[in-house]
Amino acid sequence: MADRAVDAGEVTRFAPSPTGLLHLGHAYSALTAAAQGAFHLRIEDIDRDRCRPEFEAAIHDDLHWLGLDWPRPVMRQSDRLPAYRAALDRLAPLTYPCRCRRGDIRAALSAPQEGALPAGPDGLVYPGTCRGRSHRDAGPDDVIRLDTARAFDALGLDRIGFRDRAILPDHDHSLTRDQVAQGIGDVILSRRGMGTSYHLAVVVDDAAQGITLVTRGKDLFDATYIHVLLQRLLDLPTPAYLHHRLIRDDAGRRLAKRDDARALRHYRDEGATPADICQMIGF
Ligand code: GLU
Repeated sequence: MADRAVDAGEVTRFAPSPTGLLHLGHAYSALTAAAQGAFHLRIEDIDRDRCRPEFEAAIHDDLHWLGLDWPRPVMRQSDRLPAYRAALDRLAPLTYPCRCRRGDIRAALSAPQEGALPAGPDGLVYPGTCRGRSHRDAGPDDVIRLDTARAFDALGLDRIGFRDRAILPDHDHSLTRDQVAQGIGDVILSRRGMGTSYHLAVVVDDAAQGITLVTRGKDLFDATYIHVLLQRLLDLPTPAYLHHRLIRDDAGRRLAKRDDARALRHYRDEGATPADICQMIGF
């Protein structure tokens, strides 16, 4: 069954990255958003190395084919770097430059412990090696991280949370300062060569577009704690959230962009109609 919210008068968005063809999971996500109210498309193209114009064109084409439409001009994150810069500058007292590469992080985490390394929504939980480094010492290849524990302290909060329209809708999903600091950690707000990161851009853009309901896959549920924290730090409103179920392949694996066999294109080429797609994803 589809995850549908009760209130259909929302401002919603679908925010794909043009790094591959849209697949059945994206169709589910876009249709879920569009069913809740005024639907916006946003192109999340900050990763210039992986984004391709042909994928962006295919996103427009596949969504139109599904029967969706949205206001123009479409927001593209690559046009929004000054807005991200302004947010980063504002957060500067709570951030630090980090020069650790993946191998350094792995090595620092492996030293004291055996077995599985702590992982959060961004992969390995950063062990804090560069925490406390000054922006004056930043190198050109450094990333910028949020000092998560200090962010809680600056807000005078010891817990952060949100409600979800699909997952236990009567429940406050919340985590303590220490749970966020230890389980999610000092997330990246500006990636090498990008001037922003997914977390920062999504928060700034949802506010700029006046989004009242964020619908996205359950895989991003834990990232929402960070997004709510960033909204508080930047004095931005917190929208409602609906994290929907993931569409899986026959083996139960989550679909990824590389699964071209599940691409909407592939089904279109085989003669499927939009109604067939809705039936396949149980919408
Ligand atoms: N660009 C992100 C993705 O494709 C969007 C996530 C979101 O909706 O916040 O997964």
